[in-house]
Amino acid sequence: MQYTEIMVRYGELSTKGKNRKDFIKQLGKNVKRVLHNFDHLKINARRDRLHVTLNGENSDKVIDRLKDVFGIETFSPAMKVEKDIDAVKKVALEMVKDQYKPGMTFKIDTRRQDKNFPLDTHEINEALGSAIVDNIDGIKAKMNKPDITIRAEFRMNGVFLSSLTILGSGGLPVGTGGRATMMLSGGIDSPVASYLGMKRGVKLDMVHFYSPPYTSEQALAKAKQLTEKLTRFGGNIQFLQVPFTEIQEEIKEKVPEGYLMTVQRRMMLRLTAALTISRHCKGIFTGESLGQVASQTLESMMAINDVTNMPVLRPLTSLDKTEIIRIAENIDTYELSIMPFEDCCTVFTPPAPRTKPNLYRTRECENMIDVKGLMERALDNVKIVDIKPGEEFLNANEDVFSELL
Ligand code: ATP
Ligand code: MG
Repeated sequence: MQYTEIMVRYGELSTKGKNRKDFIKQLGKNVKRVLHNFDHLKINARRDRLHVTLNGENSDKVIDRLKDVFGIETFSPAMKVEKDIDAVKKVALEMVKDQYKPGMTFKIDTRRQDKNFPLDTHEINEALGSAIVDNIDGIKAKMNKPDITIRAEFRMNGVFLSSLTILGSGGLPVGTGGRATMMLSGGIDSPVASYLGMKRGVKLDMVHFYSPPYTSEQALAKAKQLTEKLTRFGGNIQFLQVPFTEIQEEIKEKVPEGYLMTVQRRMMLRLTAALTISRHCKGIFTGESLGQVASQTLESMMAINDVTNMPVLRPLTSLDKTEIIRIAENIDTYELSIMPFEDCCTVFTPPAPRTKPNLYRTRECENMIDVKGLMERALDNVKIVDIKPGEEFLNANEDVFSELL
């Protein structure tokens, strides 16, 4: 059914004062951004609700976009109808028919703000209820837990009919939680961690390490394409590609095998921390989970985290792999993540990395490489790309598919 408006309810209503103002302002901006190519919409972010007037724009498409916006608890598409009971009857009937399946029950729930309307609440319920019973064979009214509820609000400026309550994404509007960096690989986990970070209102800048010629152009394109997939939740995303080849080669040459991985991770985190500070971001997100692989034990995290005192946030810490995969499927990153391109960790991972590295031994091992010089050269060669919704990185590159065939 083609609706005329959408009423959007805010999430996390406990936020008060200035926070609440910021929440509403940012949500209004984010909604405008995801809906910017619908020319005729009018968006009005008010204290209690956000209101979208469709002016003829396709309501299904607008509803689909709103589902991705963090900070929205629920929303209801509605029809504005003139204050004429016959016109209201007609639309209410259409709304019930739109959802009706044999055996379903219904209820009319009227609110009358306009006390001058000739019928009172009870009479309106009667009128609309009979119109429905008389026109749909077998339908019954039921006051307690009906299958279909039609809400009719008689306001001063018209009658608003609504029935569906659609679940939003919850969370906080992206941007209200400040800005952080996200260490994004091409795997399953880090895109899911990005999604969860954005869900708490944080605007993310992606940091990706790549090691040509050990890693392919396609691996880099895949990380960019994953970033593009995530723009649907928070708009354009800055993608920082950090060259990691020299560092990995030097580590491989100089560091004992058991500590390769730990030292490599420390260098990744050091570089990310440096970029985080220079970009005035306030924290680092990763896709680490506890207990999945060698680098994800508490001992390992302690040995790696030693290089920075920035907050390192790991939204996946307590999730099982199956739970992570379920989210990856829902946000449409899974298929892309499982494409078989080697990333820089896979290439240089020794067959048996130490699962419980010793912190002091780790520091000694790191002293075997030129940390300062390696950092400087990597940071001098960081490339920054602004990734926008709809951009193609993988499909634009034909070699990607020939490699897979
Ligand atoms: P993912 O699926 O996110 O790759 P994973 O389970 O494969 O995670 P690891 O490969 O050990 O785990 O990586 C742990 C985390 O380290 C990643 O989630 C990511 O945050 C970071 N990371 C790993 N490789 C890279 C990379 N090439 N560039 C940026 N960050 C990386
Ligand atoms: Mg990985």
